[in-house]
Amino acid sequence: MIGKTHIKNIGLSDPIEKLKGVNYKIVKPLKVLGIHTVYDLLRHIPFRYDDFSKIVNIAELTPGETATIRAKIDKITNKRTWKKNMYVTEAEVSDESGMIKAVWFNQPFLIRNLKIGSLVNLAGKAVSYGNSLYLQNPAYERIFESSTSEHTHTGGLVPIYRETAGITSRWIRFLVKNAIGNPRTEKAEPRLGKSLAGLRFVRQSQSSWTKREHSPYDGQAAQMEEILPQEIIKKHNLLPISSAILKIHFPENTDEVKEAKRRLAFEELLLIQLIILKARRKIKKSAAPPIPFDIEKTKKFVASLSFTLTDSQRKAAWEILQDMSKNIPMNRLLEGDVGSGKTVVAAIAALNAASKGRQIAIMAPTEVLARQHFHTLSSMVAEFGFNVGLLTGNSAEIFDSEVKSEYKLKKQEFLNQLTSKKLLITTGTHALISEKVSFPSLGLIVLDEQHRFGVNQRAELLQRYKTVSGLMPHLLSMTATPIPRTLTLTLYGDLDISLLNEMPKNRKNIVTKIITPSERTSAYDFVREEIRKGRQAFVICPRIDAQEDSKIKSEKTYQQELLKKEVKTVKEEYQKLSSEIFPDLKIEMLHGKMKPQEKERIMKEFKANRFNILVSTSVIEVGIDVPNAVLMLIEGAEHFGLAQLHQFRGRVGRGEYQSYCLLFAENTTLANSRRLKALINCQNGFELAEKDLEIRGPGDFLGTRQSGLPDLTMASLTNKILIKEAREEAIQLLKEDSELTRHPKLKNYLARFNAKIHFE
Ligand code: ADP
Ligand code: MG
Repeated sequence: MIGKTHIKNIGLSDPIEKLKGVNYKIVKPLKVLGIHTVYDLLRHIPFRYDDFSKIVNIAELTPGETATIRAKIDKITNKRTWKKNMYVTEAEVSDESGMIKAVWFNQPFLIRNLKIGSLVNLAGKAVSYGNSLYLQNPAYERIFESSTSEHTHTGGLVPIYRETAGITSRWIRFLVKNAIGNPRTEKAEPRLGKSLAGLRFVRQSQSSWTKREHSPYDGQAAQMEEILPQEIIKKHNLLPISSAILKIHFPENTDEVKEAKRRLAFEELLLIQLIILKARRKIKKSAAPPIPFDIEKTKKFVASLSFTLTDSQRKAAWEILQDMSKNIPMNRLLEGDVGSGKTVVAAIAALNAASKGRQIAIMAPTEVLARQHFHTLSSMVAEFGFNVGLLTGNSAEIFDSEVKSEYKLKKQEFLNQLTSKKLLITTGTHALISEKVSFPSLGLIVLDEQHRFGVNQRAELLQRYKTVSGLMPHLLSMTATPIPRTLTLTLYGDLDISLLNEMPKNRKNIVTKIITPSERTSAYDFVREEIRKGRQAFVICPRIDAQEDSKIKSEKTYQQELLKKEVKTVKEEYQKLSSEIFPDLKIEMLHGKMKPQEKERIMKEFKANRFNILVSTSVIEVGIDVPNAVLMLIEGAEHFGLAQLHQFRGRVGRGEYQSYCLLFAENTTLANSRRLKALINCQNGFELAEKDLEIRGPGDFLGTRQSGLPDLTMASLTNKILIKEAREEAIQLLKEDSELTRHPKLKNYLARFNAKIHFE
């Protein structure tokens, strides 16, 4: 480039394709990561840093430690392994102190970059194999002695980003460097800082930026402007946005990382709190149909149950009925461990609403669950003379309370019964949101397993259900995923919360055991014995990550890949169990590619004990209640989070028999066994949730895809103080100025942020 007057403008809102170094191959993976613009790239925050700050001699390397060496490539070859067509690149490198081998897997192209005789920095973990030492998959960077060498990929703190197939952290680092130049080589950091502050860049040469007078990106390029009010920055001692962005990508030490993260996290938490508080205000401002607490009926209902309510069920029901009796919409989350009995609480709310002629929609994430609610509710409210409906994508059914039986009917007839208010209580899947469905007197929505609904779906739901009269229905969300308190405040700060923190009295502890490969046979013997006694077993197949596959193009293909792989493991497991292990037993499988009718048949038959073992994927196996099933076998248990394992375990132990949860684990690293042991020692979902959060961090805990939250927010969810401060500032800001008119930049940005994270 030397000698060429190469002037290129690049704005933050420019599509990422415009950035130097972005070729057509990586555009798609970048988009999978949510990086569409230069701005998105700069906001793609590293989730950790590898510390390669010290360059050591080869002779000083110790097994198990991570370090950086500077060495010459003496030899480099590609080999193909006999297994699975894998490439291994092996290099011999040396410095004055000695030589060492470095190996990389599946990166045959390295051989083109790392030529014999070239000088490189290699950063990675030294592992011993036999009696020699290797560097395994080290990060690498060529060193050109003539250059004022700065090292993006090796020396110092090296940022590691969230990756996807087709784009590595190395790529991302390279692109970020292209986007903002390398600050550490430019001694004139203040100038860069300043230009970053305004963020109107003109690219003049490889590594310098100057400020522009006018930007073609006005309005949009303002994204990186300081949006936080100066008072807040001062009061909480936060970095200005420009240096925060700089330091998060190119930190000189861990303190800089901390500072930068704190600033960025504070900003996000503040925005989220503002969104939540505004949403809450809005809901509280709309009118809802008041549904007075019918004490007589409620008492009669409770007396009709075959069990006594727990104290926390009573309390939750009372809180819900109080809310519903008001003319502002309830927005309450009923949180309770698997099996804690949330359904009956929802039934009490439904009964009260129906008694006042209000309609109730009870929505579940899967057909199996919707059907279960249909049956449970039918039997619970039958004696009060209410019919119950079931609407799914495939079927419309009604339980007639007079003759105490169900019948199928045409969808249109079902809809007519809703429109004429003949049918008050309806259960169903997301089919309930469909255009044609209308509830003229909707009083209550119950959303079961609410975290299973996409955030968009939830927004759609509320939108969709504005009743004809303009009244907003009461909303009761239910979740069995116990959420640690800090998360609750951040994620569901707009909800009131009722907790079921005790289990019905008749519950037995579930015996939980880790089964190592050598114990497998005896575990199967045990299973057979239980089945001989008449019990049944669930087998959950391991979680699969489709991302291992290259060429994943979009979220949709990702989901399809995932489904395909899951179906495959279920089929394989089914094959293995039915032909090799338990040829004498009756086994069925359940997976996402099956027709709904087929799934339904299998669930019905399992409940009726027509077969012994149900093999299923992790995905569809939620919320079903089969008291005779006492065995829960989880394959690849180490691949699941604690909260999820706990959920699976909650499928058993629902009846009178002793139940067991067997965790089959192959890879019992320290971290894995720590998690699995936590499960063994603890039966309380809330404690487990706290532990899970602590061990894995919030990203894995909630799943970034699921939560819709930005990475940094996720990472800071354990920082109670920061959350509290942000929340207080948000309350303060809105208190004085509910429309944020005094802070136009913040207001502006808030709208964009909201659209981006789809937080309702
Ligand atoms: P979840 O909270 O997981 O949705 P369910 O509502 O499905 O739990 O309840 C699980 C089982 O416990 C059901 O069979 C239900 O009838 C039963 N149950 C609920 N409350 C009680 C109680 N207080 N005492 C005994 N059994 C109960
Ligand atoms: Mg449930």
